[in-house]
Amino acid sequence: MQIPEDVKEKLRQVIFLRSFRGRICALVLAVGILTSVLMRHAIMQTYEDRAVRQRTATVQNQLLVVAQHLISNNYFSTYRLEDPSFMASRQGINSELDTISNLYEGRIMIIGKSCKVIRDTYGISEGKNIISEEVVKCLRGENVTHYDKENGYIEMTIPIISSGTDGKANVVGVMLASVSNETIVSMMEVMDRNALTLVVLIIMVIVVSSILLSGVLTKPFKRVSDEIRKVKEGTSEKAISVPDYVETVHIVDAFNDLLGRMNALNDSRQEFVANVSHELKTPMTSLKVLADSLLAQNDVPAELYREFMTDMVSEIDRENRIITDLLSLVKMDKTAQEMNVVAINLNDLTELIMKRLRPIARKRDVEVVFESVRPVIAEVDEVKMTLVITNLVENAIKYNKEHGSVKVVLDADHQYFTLEVSDTGVGISSEDLPRVYERFYRADKSHSREMGGTGLGLSITRSAVLLHHGSITVKSTLSEGTTFTVKIPLNYIPGEKREEKG
Ligand code: ADP
Repeated sequence: MQIPEDVKEKLRQVIFLRSFRGRICALVLAVGILTSVLMRHAIMQTYEDRAVRQRTATVQNQLLVVAQHLISNNYFSTYRLEDPSFMASRQGINSELDTISNLYEGRIMIIGKSCKVIRDTYGISEGKNIISEEVVKCLRGENVTHYDKENGYIEMTIPIISSGTDGKANVVGVMLASVSNETIVSMMEVMDRNALTLVVLIIMVIVVSSILLSGVLTKPFKRVSDEIRKVKEGTSEKAISVPDYVETVHIVDAFNDLLGRMNALNDSRQEFVANVSHELKTPMTSLKVLADSLLAQNDVPAELYREFMTDMVSEIDRENRIITDLLSLVKMDKTAQEMNVVAINLNDLTELIMKRLRPIARKRDVEVVFESVRPVIAEVDEVKMTLVITNLVENAIKYNKEHGSVKVVLDADHQYFTLEVSDTGVGISSEDLPRVYERFYRADKSHSREMGGTGLGLSITRSAVLLHHGSITVKSTLSEGTTFTVKIPLNYIPGEKREEKG
């Protein structure tokens, strides 16, 4: 049977614990199995200890009673074969010992003070001496028990104490008993079998519950990927929400941020395309209207032709300007690698640009002044810097009042140079101010068009400034004037484009 690739991959992930679900499963399983195995061991151990202690206590109690009988019947006095009552009581005690040793499948020995075995229920050690540590200890009055698991018996000693004539307790002998642990072992075997069955059952329950539990615990993550997939496939565009865990909330928040940025980017792209089409269409429409009206008339006078043609040329110029500005903007959008940085004298560059623009200023009767605070040499892209200065000064002239003035101040400190372009013009309202850098945005639409503006100049300027890792700021008062300030590092720092709001 052929296993599908995705199933194989899932298996691989689970086996190498690369899946979160696999790890939860393994963890629950490991903890569960370890706990049940340890519990089984602990229960068995506790039972064994208890059973041995209980058995020892029972045998010891019975032997203590026998010890009392021994004393009361003078068991340790020398044989009095001729005394039938003494012999009868001795026989009685011996059979009592036999009964106990049979009952507990063991052996009992009675050892005298001189360590000589007086009675052995096995009957093999009588008359022999036993000088073991246990016996010696017991003769000193100490009870000793020892469990020999390997050989399967519990050994214990019970001192035989008689109170002497002076009323003092006196150890006159020792009972050394060893009893079999067979009943304990067989009971433990039964218990162990039951415990094993229980452990197997518990492990089965753990396996099933760990699979179910890991499924439930990882469900929110699956929901996150399902929601993301829906957005990817285009079935949904809305922000997603999986509030189950703090972790999923973090992932979802990060994704929603990204989605928001992508949507905004998409919107601005669509808006840009719409604006470009509209801007490019306007001169074309004018051209068509002019051409149509010429074609519609017969015997058009030469002056009218000339007039219409002049209008048509200015519309073509407008179209040209838009296309040139768009191309500049596209170039700005490319990476900073396109920067052609050289150290140039900015005083000379500004002077040159102002010389070029003076005729336009003169036409509008606007005075243009350049104040160079100090000589500035900076590492800049000359073409882009020219665009920056030209756009700012041109705007200051274009949006000025009659007999107004434009002042350009170039200054520098040890790190940055600043170019300040201020005018006494129409100013920009506080609502328009934050939007002047947007593509095709015109604060004063009719005036801008009249001036041949494309609404792209400041957008190009800002992009060029950012490519130099600089900043551009604007201050303006309506009907009083505007000041644009550009601040750029004297030494070009290659690296990321930095966003700074003006
Ligand atoms: P435009 O081609 O229309 O000049 P810009 O991007 O250069 O486009 O400028 C955007 C708008 O900001 C202009 O349409 C104008 O309304 C306003 N603006 C720019 N500079 C000035 C200024 N110095 N004074 C007043 N308004 C200005």
